[in-house]
Amino acid sequence: MMDAHAHGPGPEIPAGFEPPRSGRWRNTTRATHYQLVSSLRKPCGFCIRRHGRILERPWPLPFHPNCQCDQLAILPDWEAPMVYRTPSEIFREVGPDAQANLVGTDNLRIIRAGLVDLSEVIGTADTGWLLLAFTETVRRRKLTVPQLLAAGVDRATADRAVSMAKRMSNRQP
Ligand SMILES: [Zn+2]
Repeated sequence: MMDAHAHGPGPEIPAGFEPPRSGRWRNTTRATHYQLVSSLRKPCGFCIRRHGRILERPWPLPFHPNCQCDQLAILPDWEAPMVYRTPSEIFREVGPDAQANLVGTDNLRIIRAGLVDLSEVIGTADTGWLLLAFTETVRRRKLTVPQLLAAGVDRATADRAVSMAKRMSNRQP
């Protein structure tokens, strides 16, 4: 299965900046800024990484076909409409379909089985959004085929992920 975040628009799309989490960012500049609002119904990994981030010019929406993102203007002296939140805070708010779409069904299986923490896969307040690919999660946690099978991952996927993880570790220990 393709990882949900493996696709995405190119690097020419700006990342904006991350406003502080302590409250709503205030625009003390003379230029209108724009806060990105990703759909929380079924966001993709590319767009959710920008949710709540701010750019000093309009975001080039849509980012991709069927992109559900929107943006809110922050005029000079205005406060940003949204407080910036951590990946796990946002993850808790989206529905089960969106969670599976973001981390992938196999990552979700090993999270539910307790083989890995949710924050290790999606990221923390310090790291920002990670959204690790399943194989990368398997590599970092050094998970074995029997562990993956017990978590409900199918045999072929488990075999492939473990052998790919080993090859990746040989290249970047
Ligand atoms: Zn998207």
